Amino acid sequence: MKAPSFDYARPATLDQAFSLLEQYGDGARIIAGGQTLLATLNMRLSEPQILVDLNGIRGLSGISLQEGHLRIGAMTRHSEIEDSFLVAQHMPLLAMTAPHVAHKAIRNKGTLGGSIAFADPAAEWPCCAVALDAVIVLASRRGLRRVQAADFFQELYTTDMAPDEIIVACEFPLQAPGSRCAFDELARRHGDYAIVGLAAVAQVAGNVLSGLRLVFLGTGNIPLRARAAEAVLEGRELTADLIAAARKALANELAPAADLYNSAEMKQHLAQVLMNRLLKALAA
Ligand SMILES: Cc1cc2nc3c(=O)[nH]c(=O)nc-3n(C[C@H](O)[C@H](O)[C@H](O)COP(=O)(O)OP(=O)(O)OC[C@H]3O[C@@H](n4cnc5c(N)ncnc54)[C@H](O)[C@@H]3O)c2cc1C
Repeated sequence: MKAPSFDYARPATLDQAFSLLEQYGDGARIIAGGQTLLATLNMRLSEPQILVDLNGIRGLSGISLQEGHLRIGAMTRHSEIEDSFLVAQHMPLLAMTAPHVAHKAIRNKGTLGGSIAFADPAAEWPCCAVALDAVIVLASRRGLRRVQAADFFQELYTTDMAPDEIIVACEFPLQAPGSRCAFDELARRHGDYAIVGLAAVAQVAGNVLSGLRLVFLGTGNIPLRARAAEAVLEGRELTADLIAAARKALANELAPAADLYNSAEMKQHLAQVLMNRLLKALAA
């Protein structure tokens, strides 16, 4: 199938982009890397009147270390995150996760902001954003608005973003000394969307994890924090018995839905496997 016909605009400033969003309302669609949007157009899942291309707006891309956080511009490509020294040094969870985002060719075009805005429940960046307590920075004519990632993802492909808002950046709070992180996912083939994935962040002292955040992708409509499992593990010696208790808690709080290829039981099992692996990795 081919995309329906549409107009195309490449504003040079955010102000111009806001004007186009205002002028066309529901008929306007932002395009960033186009890696998701073009597929939806070709399948005619979306028929916008005009595409508003963010690629001509300066200042939306780049990675910088700021007071208390690492700022990543919305138009920063996945592969820039993958290759960034600043990310490797200050936000290792993103560095270890980046190679799991699609294939290299897609990572070269796709953007952080596009992934956050699209809010695919199987996408890696929304999951990491929740695990790292990131802040999504939105701009509109009304000014800037900052939303915690945990509040941003609301339902399947649904976010807190208003139609006249544009994501301009994500701010990732710098982690305290002693903080460790781990990410892993299980997919049919490397580069495919994961069946289940897990991002884990914790303060580690010997064999004890505290301030633990376990965030799953692919197990619900949004990135899911496993708060019951976290509570079991918090501040206790990581023994086989404790992990078994955490797995029980996880089984009670996760209720993944089956998809075309994987049953709910299979996803539940994979979530357990990932939690087991990552807890051991954090404490190693
Ligand atoms: C074959 C294939 C495999 C993939 N596998 C994975 C995977 O394993 N994991 C994964 O996470 N992703 C995967 N993706 C998706 C890829 O990561 C996309 O790059 C990403 O989801 C969207 O980013 P984009 O910049 O291409 O956004 P676009 O496609 O340009 O836009 C996506 C949506 O976000 C909106 N949007 C974009 N930027 C902004 C902004 N700054 N502010 C507000 N709204 C905005 C658009 O209007 C559109 O609705 C895959 C894609 C393909 C084609």
